[in-house]
Amino acid sequence: MVKAVFPGSFDPPTFGHLDIIERARTIFERVLVVVAVNREKQYLFDADERVAFMRELVAPWPNVEVHTCDTLVVEFARQHACRVLLRGVRSVQDFSYEFELSILNKGVGPEIETFFMPTDQKFFVLRSSAIKELAAYGGDVSGMVPAVVAKALKAAYPRS
Ligand code: ADP
Repeated sequence: MVKAVFPGSFDPPTFGHLDIIERARTIFERVLVVVAVNREKQYLFDADERVAFMRELVAPWPNVEVHTCDTLVVEFARQHACRVLLRGVRSVQDFSYEFELSILNKGVGPEIETFFMPTDQKFFVLRSSAIKELAAYGGDVSGMVPAVVAKALKAAYPRS
């Protein structure tokens, strides 16, 4: 019975994030989605909005919870008795970044194991930053993010 933490900015959540959560929830007893609140980072959607999106999107899945965290994610995992830190990987570039991060996290919390889950091929091009850019230019993002997010992106980038 292992619980996993799935941390991220989720600014905003995409179908790629949801695919990882949906697959992980059939493997782990519980999945704790952790919306990162990093004071150094500039987000389009504030923490409350990102949490609200996520809560709505994972509502059909009883073993998935949504939290926020402004500490080290390893600290959060420890406090919530989660053994696994889950990260999605789209590409070799993602992997090299995630691999280094996993080594850092292992140094801070040796009892927490990072698991990598490769993206589904349908979602490997989905990246929150690129989706925001597309939305800012009025592009159609409805195939990349859930309807609630697409609507919020439209509102965030009204076209004159
Ligand atoms: P962070 O700022 O922590 O990278 P993101 O919201 O960008 O936050 O991503 C959270 C997690 O979801 C990361 O592990 C990332 O690699 C993964 N992820 C993002 N997009 C996808 C996707 N399309 N397919 C699979 N995993 C993804």
